[in-house]
This record gives sequence, C-alpha cells and structure tokens, in this order.
Amino acid sequence: MLVDSHCHLNFPEFKQDLTQVIQNAHNQDIKYMLTVNTRIAESLDVQQIAEAYPNIFCSVGVHPHDSKDYNDSTLIEQLKTHAAHPKVVALGETGLDYYYNNSDADAQINCFNMHLNVGSELNLPVIIHTREADTDTIASLNKYPNTRGVFHCFSGSKEFAKQGLDRGLYISFSGIITFKNASELREAVKFVPLDRILVETDSPFLAPIPHRGKRNEPAFTHFVAKMVAELKEISLEEVASATTKNFFNLFNKAIP
Ligand SMILES: [Zn+2]
Ligand SMILES: [Zn+2]
Repeated sequence: MLVDSHCHLNFPEFKQDLTQVIQNAHNQDIKYMLTVNTRIAESLDVQQIAEAYPNIFCSVGVHPHDSKDYNDSTLIEQLKTHAAHPKVVALGETGLDYYYNNSDADAQINCFNMHLNVGSELNLPVIIHTREADTDTIASLNKYPNTRGVFHCFSGSKEFAKQGLDRGLYISFSGIITFKNASELREAVKFVPLDRILVETDSPFLAPIPHRGKRNEPAFTHFVAKMVAELKEISLEEVASATTKNFFNLFNKAIP
C-alpha cells in the first residue's frame, strides 16, 4: 500500500473522470491521497473532494505563484478557519519559487512566513514548495524553528536536503527522480534516510517515466516508489511501508 502525499485532484485535468482516476489509484494499491490546495479561493473544492472520499485528505494554502493575491494579514485568519476542517491535515502548498517568480520575492516570503506562523501555532505540518530559493527558504524556517513539514517535489541538492533534514523536515520525491537527466537528484534520494522520505505524484503534472509528457495521476505513485527502491537497493514493499508510516507520522491529523 502506498500514499500519494501530494496531488491536485481539483484541477481541471480531472474534471471529467475523477472517480475513475481514484479507482485507478486503488487498483494500483495507492490507498490514500493528499489533495493539495494552491489558492484559498479553491479551498472548498479540495475540501469537497476530501469529504466525498474517505481515503483522501486535503490541505489549505497559497502556492508561491499566487502569493501576490494573498499578501495581507487576513490570510492568517483564513488559514486558521479552513484548518479547523477535520480533513484539512496540513498547510500549503506554500514556499518560494524564484525559478518562475510569478509573484515578487517579498510577497512570496511574506505569504510563506504567514503559513509557517500558523503552522507553529496550530502544530500543523507545512507543505513546502521551494525552487531556486534555498537561502531564503532556510531563513524563513530559522524564524519558525518549530516548523513540522516537508520539502515537496524535491529537486534540490544533497546539501539542501540535509538542511531540511537538520530542521526535522521530511523530503518528498516525485516522478522527476525517474527522468534521465536527474542523476544528481537520484544522489539525494540515496542520501535521505528512508524514515524521512515521502513519495508523491504532484499530478496532474510531472508524470514519471514511462508516462512522461502525459497527464499524471495518483496511480503512477508506484513508479516513484519503485525508483526509490532501486536506488536504496531495497524492496518496493519496504519503501511502501516506510513511506506510508512517514506520511501518517508527519500528517498526524490524518486518521488511516
Ligand atoms: Zn509545488
Ligand atoms: Zn503541487
């Protein structure tokens, strides 16, 4: 049994066939999924999905791309209100993306810090998206040292993974680890201890090989887990049981 720790089931790519997509996941023994919010305006959409399916959990948060639209302190109250929902088990995704820079850095940092603030206050884990922003990500985490959370869709260096691990974070790997040109990232997979690894699809994006370029879906989590098993030279079953245990340790509001 595997958990897809990060997908976006409310996105338009799944509008037509969500029930089938969830069935496909169950057929591949992907029993649980966490559907991740990217805009407060869509938080009720992810909550509705989580309410409709007992094995799906959700989060509340603002993607760094959208942080320019949610940049005043009312966000704190909005996060807290939605976090009270029983199936909302995490904050995020939030963080810093200096690769796309769809919002300016100040707005991203401000928004990220508000999530970390609420996470510390409510003791809720934070799903962190970080791209080409290592220094500022660590600076924010240092401001909120009680943060529990995960670097999701990890694509950074071994050194950056270590900085996250040193702060108690988990590291979540996606289909990127199956891509041909990702040999440096595969070194990070070998480096991160098994008891701190999560697996995810980030679907509908980033379909793993052999589905690269097509729509991604939670059923493909096992391609990610298989690659982790190969790199760690252990069985798929070991990866499955460790990453499932890690998921419920981190997202401890989620009741299996
Ligand atoms: Zn992300
Ligand atoms: Zn995402």
